[in-house]
Order: sequence, then C-alpha cells, then structure tokens
Amino acid sequence: MADHEAGAETAARRFRDDAHAAVEWVARYLEEIERYPVFPRVKPGEIRAMLPPEPPETPEPFDAVLADLDRVILPGITHWQSPMFFGYFPANASGPAILGDLVSSGLGVLSMMWATSPAATELETHVLDWMVDLLALPQGFRSAGKGGGVIQDTASSASLVALLCARERQTGFAANRVGVQGTLTAYTSSQAHYSIEKAAGIAGIGRENLRLIDVDRSYAMRPDALEQAIETDLAAGRSPFFVSATVGTTSSTGFDPVRAIGEICRRRGLWLHVDGAYAGSAAVCPEFRWIHDGLELADSYCFNPHKWLLTNSDCDCFYVADRATLIHALSILPEYLRNQATESGAVFDYRDWGVPLGRRFRALKLWFVVRAYGAEGLRQHIRRSVSLAQEFAGWVTADDRFELCAPAPLSLVCFRLKGSDAANERLRDTLNAQGEMYLIHTRLEGKIVLRLAIGGTYTERRHVERAWALIREAARQAG
Ligand code: PLP
Repeated sequence: MADHEAGAETAARRFRDDAHAAVEWVARYLEEIERYPVFPRVKPGEIRAMLPPEPPETPEPFDAVLADLDRVILPGITHWQSPMFFGYFPANASGPAILGDLVSSGLGVLSMMWATSPAATELETHVLDWMVDLLALPQGFRSAGKGGGVIQDTASSASLVALLCARERQTGFAANRVGVQGTLTAYTSSQAHYSIEKAAGIAGIGRENLRLIDVDRSYAMRPDALEQAIETDLAAGRSPFFVSATVGTTSSTGFDPVRAIGEICRRRGLWLHVDGAYAGSAAVCPEFRWIHDGLELADSYCFNPHKWLLTNSDCDCFYVADRATLIHALSILPEYLRNQATESGAVFDYRDWGVPLGRRFRALKLWFVVRAYGAEGLRQHIRRSVSLAQEFAGWVTADDRFELCAPAPLSLVCFRLKGSDAANERLRDTLNAQGEMYLIHTRLEGKIVLRLAIGGTYTERRHVERAWALIREAARQAG
C-alpha cells in the first residue's frame, strides 16, 4: 500500500471514530439538557478568557476538543433546545434534521446551479413542491406552473429578495442597472418584523420610504389605513410598489388580513409579500389554514421550518408566483458559470433565486424531516404546541393577578402581571435568573408584556405546568 493510501485509510478510520464520539456527545447533551440553566450565567468575555490566545501549532486529538465543549462552550450556551426555553420563537431542531445536516456536510456539495449538483437542485424543487401540498399553499407557487419555491437561509433574506423583485418589476428592471431613482414607497405594519425595514435599507429604497401602517386591536394591519397611505403617497407623486403583510407577527402573532391587503395590491399593481416566518408552519393542520386566507393574491411568501417545523436552522421556504421576475431580477451570467444545462433552459439554477452563489444542500434536512415524521407527525407537533398554549392562556385568565394582552390563536401567549412595567420586568428577570426557564418581553400598547412562546421540539405538558408554577411563585414573591 502506498503511503498516501495508508494515510487516507487512517484519516477515514479517525473520522469514523470521531464522528461516533461527536454523535454520542450530541445525544448525551440532548438527554441531559434539562440539567443546564436555560440561559447561561456568564459575563461578557468570560468564554473567550477560557480560550488559548493562539491557535494550536500542531494537531490536537479530537477528544481534547470534545472535552473543551463541556468545559468552555456549554457554560456559555443558551439552551434553545431546552423544553423550558420559551423565548423569541422556538428554533426547532430534531434528530432527522441533525442527520440531514450531517449528510449534507459529508457530501459537501454546493447547489449553486443544477450543473454543480443536479440532485441537490432537484430535491430542493421537489421538497418545496411537497411543502405546497403539506401546507395547502396556493397551487401557483408550485414549480410546474409559473411559480416555484427555493430554500433561503432566513426569512430576513427571503423578504429582501421579495423586495428586490418588487423593485425591479416596478422599475422595468432598471434599478439593477442604474440604481434606485425616484420615490419608491413600501408598506408594512407597525408590528412587522424589523427585517422588512432592514431590507428597505439594503435594497436602496430607504428606511424612511417604508410606511408603518397602523394595526387594529388584534395587532393586524388595517387595510383602510394601508389604502389611505397609498393614496397619500400617490397624491404626492410617489411610487408605491411593495407591501409586506405578516401572518403571525413577532410580538404577538397578529394576523394581517391578507385577502383584503391582496385585493388592494392587485387593484393598484403593488407587489404583495407575505411573511409567515413563524406561524406559517401551522398550516400543516387543516384547522389552522385560515391563516393563509387570500394567499393566492400574494406575489411571494415565506415561512421558516427552522422555527416551528422540526428542522434545524437555517431553513426558510420562499415561494414566488412568477419565477421569471425573480430570475430576471437576480440573474447575471459570467463566462465561468456558462454550461449546457443552464443554456438549455430546462433546469433551475438556484443561485439566481437569492443572494449567495454557494448554497448548502439544505433540502436534505427538510426531506429527512418530512419522511421521518410524515404529515401526521408534523401535525401532531403543531397541535401539541397550540393546545399547550391554549391551556396556559386559560391558566393566566383564571388567575386575577394576571391579564392576557393579545389574542393567542396559536402557540404564543402574551401576558402580564396587572401592575407596573417595573413589576413585569422584575418578574421576567427573576424567572430568567433562576435558570429553570427562559422567556422574553415585548411592548404592546406602550406596556411591557411577557411572551411565552411554546413550540419547542421537546416541550411537553409537564414543562408548561412547571413554567406556570414558577411564574406564579415569582409573582407571589414580587407582590
Ligand atoms: N419575520 C417574522 C414574523 C419573525 O418573527 C422573524 C423572527 O422571529 C423573522 C421574520 C426573522 O426570521 P429570520 O431569523 O429567519 O430572519
């Protein structure tokens, strides 16, 4: 055996041993996750102080690296996968998705274009079509017609891409060439995620040219206020071109009336993007499909399986009704990327469907998840989260020290101690400092409100019961 062959064999054996140890480490971590304080008790700089100032000059054994995971890294980890993590929205991870990511890393392919890995592209197209069926999304988003879906890293990127498409459609594809001219004006609600404002800045629209439309008592965009804002801008000689509606706002899961907004957009020729980053996944259950009423009027839509559909971050499903506009908006073909498949026009080149050229093979983990859970398993996960949240909301309502602060149709409950903002901040800080659970606050109608976001992969009834017991006890002490 040649030296290099022996070396390759040793490297392969070592990889296999190390990989087993790494998987064992992850499995043990997940088994023991409830032992850790959900939010780490470290001060800024403490983790870096445990790391050597210089990188190693010579190879280190893998078990030394694993040991440092326990010693250095775990003390500084926020345990998003803890069943007692109720902050933000969940970032679902699951066994099948972890393995999908592992295989994707093992293959190490880039799905820039069909030609750079045909299976990566075709699986992505296929799984995104599956998601249309699983969520009963408008048929116009399927790849068989004029539409199509693509995996973006995040909803922030998806919304940016939607905005770029809208900008190009509005300017006859001139903004790409000569920059943004004139007075393009975009609209979203005052409750929309900040990523829409960020996208307006990045896309050269200007954050001041994004109108934040008023919401009603359920934190849903008011179509009459939208129409009024568009009228005002038109009268001022501006060029309204883009609306982003949200299904499931970040602060309180408010639902913008997509149909009414869509009708306005159609009538006036504005691009309608719908951001369902968190709540979109609920549509795997027929009883929650009301959230998408009117979605067939949207030009683009996104939701994140990486929030609530058991798929590790990052994984955002982004759909357009007219892929030609998307591709026209983002495609540039340099000589070094020319190939027969692209020129035949018979394939999708996903580099033209988003910002990056190099793209990980993310469809694998989504495929693993859908196959491992089946539609039934996915529905079970959503239903369990929603029913736990409904039960929690009932407990809050029945306790006269607390009040519910927004409708809780799905799995986020916004509530507060009746009393001052300071008392609610103290309650949040006490709970989070104890380490057994974690939640964050938001502000609704000027008041500090606590958010309990249920939907973690491993969260069961006993965890929500325990959270409520901790909340009541902390409130007793605060009172
Ligand atoms: N849109 C909504 C409604 C969200 O709630 C969030 C995050 O919570 C986002 C967008 C941003 O998601 P991402 O992290 O995928 O960019």
